Amino acid sequence: MSNPAQTTTEGTLAEIVSHAKEYGFVFPSSEIYDGLAAVYDYGPNGVELKNNLKQLWWKAMTQLNQNVVGIDAAIFMHPLTWKASGHVDGFSDPMIDNLDSKKRYRADVLLEEKAAEYEKNGEIARAETLLAEMGRLLTIEDLAGVKQLIIDEKILCPISKTGNWTDVRQFNLMFSTQVGAVAEGSSQIYLRPETAQGIFVNFLNVQKSARQQVPFGIAQIGKAFRNEIVARQFIFRMREFEQMEMQFFVRPGTEGEWYQHWKETRRRWHEALGLPAAKLRFHDHDKLAHYAKAAVDIEYEFPFGFKEIEGIHSRSDFDLTQHQALSRKKQNYFDNDINPETGKPYGNYVPFVVETSVGADRLFLATLCQAFQEETITEGEGEEQKTKTRKLLRLHPAVAPVKAAIFPLVKKDGLPEKANEIYQALRHDFRVIVEEKDAIGKRYTRQDLIGTPFCIAVDHQTLEDNTVTVRHRDSREQTRMPISELHGYIGHAVSFSRIFEQL
Ligand code: ATP
Repeated sequence: MSNPAQTTTEGTLAEIVSHAKEYGFVFPSSEIYDGLAAVYDYGPNGVELKNNLKQLWWKAMTQLNQNVVGIDAAIFMHPLTWKASGHVDGFSDPMIDNLDSKKRYRADVLLEEKAAEYEKNGEIARAETLLAEMGRLLTIEDLAGVKQLIIDEKILCPISKTGNWTDVRQFNLMFSTQVGAVAEGSSQIYLRPETAQGIFVNFLNVQKSARQQVPFGIAQIGKAFRNEIVARQFIFRMREFEQMEMQFFVRPGTEGEWYQHWKETRRRWHEALGLPAAKLRFHDHDKLAHYAKAAVDIEYEFPFGFKEIEGIHSRSDFDLTQHQALSRKKQNYFDNDINPETGKPYGNYVPFVVETSVGADRLFLATLCQAFQEETITEGEGEEQKTKTRKLLRLHPAVAPVKAAIFPLVKKDGLPEKANEIYQALRHDFRVIVEEKDAIGKRYTRQDLIGTPFCIAVDHQTLEDNTVTVRHRDSREQTRMPISELHGYIGHAVSFSRIFEQL
């Protein structure tokens, strides 16, 4: 190979959505019935990638920290949970309808999009002023003021192109259903809108059974449900999605340090996974929940702009105190550590909480957007020069759905049997596949498209000296290697350690 020149482009959202479907990552839900808005299914490659991301988060929380333990709480919870947490009364988004198109929008999203437009045009101060004013109006719940702001900003419905708006109203996002055999004898319960409350109500169960002392954390991965008004941008905003949340319980007064600690730790984690620093940013909340001391989003630059993938929230003792009040069960912790100011133990208190909350699906989408690339490669010189393009997923090997694909060069001469031997030697530890069909170039292409980091070619030389060619997805370079070294070589590259050692 001489003078390889290469240009790389990233994908648009439309390209990523179609790639995700074609190569078995994400399908629209119940597609044969024309789908269900804002609900999606993960395909054979998608479920592997998503499980790897979840495992990576789970281990980074519960394996790298002795003082973080996990739980798996039920989706259904006692209805009072949601009264206590404030979701029954306050978990709503401000919505506005356009009277001509009959389309419903989130008022805050319309304003945020306007601000993003200003930002794109270099009018940074104007964008900031708009967001600050929106934050102020939402904090004082001046919905008429929010409507006026939409009118003043001359925001039009993208469909009808008119500014014929209804008033702004609050819309509760929780889904409800009934428990009990018949409707009359049943009571209304909710599908949890966040996993956090399953952690709060188990605070003392976990603290005692896992013999944890403050500061400690409880981690959970699970489904959450929100009746989102605006269902757009693929799996970015879904009505059924998965959260990975960790509540870290701390002594009151220390929450500021822990907030900083988790803010930085979580950002490093995203970078270690391969989201570049330049495409990540912190965004402090303009509108703080009344109980919150501080809140920041980690945003990733999707093809449709910088958007939240994770929230870090300093939640004070709000949730535990609320549950204490409604359940009439004390949520106190006795802290034996000596307070240097008094010379006595800190004693009884309701701990403060710092929360990290990341959406598995948004992380998946960010990972996919980051990995998806189209390369134009120019090889050779003079008349020999050729230009070709290839699409590939540059996934971190630790999260790739398939770690290695084994290709017997031809379907005869004992090569398939040799390939199978290699497969048997690797399959206990890695997700590997054997592919015999098509020319080898085509087989490389198929693996590039799903992000397989290594392709192992078995040829006639393999039968003589037990070596194979390992082809690397990103560089397309090929290395000859003894079969006996494959396990160690792949194992090193795909280990979560490669990510953890960067934290
Ligand atoms: P947004 O402002 O985008 O609606 P949020 O601030 O309401 O998000 P949180 O309540 O902080 O989100 O939830 C924590 C995380 O859960 C988010 O950072 C996001 O990754 C994920 N998440 C929230 N809502 C959805 C959704 N509808 N679809 C997919 N993921 C979601």
